[in-house]
Amino acid sequence: MIDGSSLTVEMEEENSPATAIAPREPPKIQRLEESVVNRIAAGEVIQRPVSAVKELVENSLDADSSSISVVVKDGGLKLIQVSDDGHGIRREDLPILCERHTTSKLTKYEDLFSLSSMGFRGEALASMTYVAHVTVTTITKGQIHGYRVSYRDGVMEHEPKACAAVKGTQIMVENLFYNMTARRKTLQNSADDYGKIVDLLSRMAIHHNNVSFSCRKHGAVKADVHSVMSPSRLDSIRSVYGVSVAKNLMKVEVSSCDPSGCTFDMEGFISNSNYVSKKTILVLFINDRLVECSALKRAIEIVYAATLPKASKPFVYMSINLPREHVDINIHPTKKEVSLLNQEIIIEMIQSEVEVKLRNANDTRTFQEQKVEYIQSTLTSPRSDSTVSPKLSGQKTQKVPVNKMVRTDSSDPAGRLHAFLQPKPHNLPDKVSSLSVVRSSVRQRRNPKETADLSSVQELIAGVDSCCHPGLLETVRNCTYVGMADDVFALVQYNTHLYLANVVNLSKELMYQQTLRRFAHFNAIQLSDPAPLSELILLALKEEDLDPETDKNDDLKERIAEMNTELLKEKAEMLEEYFSVYIDSNGNLSRLPVILDQYTPDMDRVPEFLLCLGNDVEWEDEKSCFQGVSAAIGNFYAMHPPLLPNPSGDGIQFYTKRGESSQEKSDLDGNVEMEDNLDKDLLSDAENAWAQREWSIQHVLFPSMRLFLKPPASMASNGTFVKVASLEKLYKIFERC
Ligand code: ADP
Ligand code: MG
Repeated sequence: MIDGSSLTVEMEEENSPATAIAPREPPKIQRLEESVVNRIAAGEVIQRPVSAVKELVENSLDADSSSISVVVKDGGLKLIQVSDDGHGIRREDLPILCERHTTSKLTKYEDLFSLSSMGFRGEALASMTYVAHVTVTTITKGQIHGYRVSYRDGVMEHEPKACAAVKGTQIMVENLFYNMTARRKTLQNSADDYGKIVDLLSRMAIHHNNVSFSCRKHGAVKADVHSVMSPSRLDSIRSVYGVSVAKNLMKVEVSSCDPSGCTFDMEGFISNSNYVSKKTILVLFINDRLVECSALKRAIEIVYAATLPKASKPFVYMSINLPREHVDINIHPTKKEVSLLNQEIIIEMIQSEVEVKLRNANDTRTFQEQKVEYIQSTLTSPRSDSTVSPKLSGQKTQKVPVNKMVRTDSSDPAGRLHAFLQPKPHNLPDKVSSLSVVRSSVRQRRNPKETADLSSVQELIAGVDSCCHPGLLETVRNCTYVGMADDVFALVQYNTHLYLANVVNLSKELMYQQTLRRFAHFNAIQLSDPAPLSELILLALKEEDLDPETDKNDDLKERIAEMNTELLKEKAEMLEEYFSVYIDSNGNLSRLPVILDQYTPDMDRVPEFLLCLGNDVEWEDEKSCFQGVSAAIGNFYAMHPPLLPNPSGDGIQFYTKRGESSQEKSDLDGNVEMEDNLDKDLLSDAENAWAQREWSIQHVLFPSMRLFLKPPASMASNGTFVKVASLEKLYKIFERC
């Protein structure tokens, strides 16, 4: 990208009628002038004013500065001035300072892997001189005066001039992109560059808390970022992001020292449930380098969405340190992204820790205990299996043969079945069939000491962990949802294989496991009208009856319903305390637990659930009781096919009106008539229920499964996962066509 305007002109010429008619001679290939090459390269390194500021500030940090101040005029286009109190630049280095590939930080390729500095390519200053006017003023220790010199296109414009100077270096970048008209124009129109610079320095300031930063607009008295050196990171966050952020933060730490390769330390701060924001802020440093990592950001956002009731986006500061040879810092022109060895595992471990932290957010006292639980459940068994899996330990740089290309970004909808289908009706009502529910963010107040002691729940969770099938875990974590193959099976892709996955079994297991994990820490779903248990149980009993027309057993059923109601009323306190299933003293059900956020179970299944609680739970033994209730909740919340038949298949017949109109229908033909005979209200209820379910499967079930499900070994053989095709084989077949 040299200059947008000249590029457009060229393209227009190519398409003009004169050139289009006569076939042209192949154009002659010419070598670009070096200054043009340099300008193109410069435009890649310095993409916007903020990229220049980042490079300059990183240089100042590399020069061991303890104070860095930035002045910006006109969003950085007129002036960027960065002054530091670092070690300065020697007089004899000034002539080559701004040539490309001059650096004091790297001499041979191998050094790249042991770098502790931010710079290494020696390109930043050179780039700036190709797209702006650069003036450097610097003084080194022990000198009585400094030097000032200006640069253009990589070279000095004049010999360095002696001048008065204070400790360190000041670099002025003026008229950025003066020779790139199009870019300058685009940037002039966007007002947010100063904002980006302030944001950058805020981030830098909280990580480098041993350096004081300031940033202000040229001519302004007040600085927009002003941080002072502080030994406490939380203090620096407070001084930069304000009290409202700092007071709602929790510390997180994870580390792993796995000899097979996954070695890292992470420490940081994450926002708690009181923090409210519409935008995620992830301030991420890897080996002290400010970087972006969209995979980590998404992973954390998913945990927040799934764990906290409020739709707040998190504030996260994280500093990850890992052996330098595990980080490839050279994958992005502005060094904005880095690539890590074992990235998936690292992200996963961080994600689990964030989740544990959030779950315990209401009581910091349980932190220690929960940490132990986490180490047991997440660091040991399945983790060591996944570390040795070929996918993670293999070299990622290999070129992938076309028949092995797969959808790897599970959040990228491209290629999913539904992208090719008609969109389903929008405005899905939140109302859920017969019983309507109101979500509330009622937070259960618990005495965490008591609940943390319940070793039976810990045993059940340990049971889940020990039954986990490592191969299936891999598949579940990395598969991509393709679409629903029928009412029960979803088509998913994992590497080059296609599987049918039973969403009812999977969701039932997931809900069961989540019930155990959230034990006694549920948020609540409030029913808009309390539902009388005895009536609901009676309803379930009648539904169970094979011959519902006869009412000869009605008395008996009523008695069973009464007994079950009494039993559940007796157990109400426990059900509320541990499972957030609230039954009032009149025997009405009014609250249910939130098992996964954004998901409300099918209220048509409440009767069956209550009957199951009454009949199937072993109340006397603590562990069996918790297991039974969790299983009943799991079954209730599972993503069963809706009770109304699926109208998109043969099920449509169900919605045909019976009676007189059906006779008329037989006399006439045509679809119009057919449509007239449909029960539109029922049909639209059914369509909504099915669309809602499919939405939940894709957007709630699969993302949550990836995070939380530990698939039991039984799922490998009971038909929950069935391999249907291997893309390599399909590819071979189609290739011959
Ligand atoms: P890199 O940082 O990749 O080495 P740069 O073009 O950013 O390349 O800088 C070139 C060299 O200029 C650095 O290696 C460093 O020696 C010197 N330098 C740049 N800025 C400063 C500064 N603020 N203080 C001291 N030396 C600096
Ligand atoms: Mg640099």
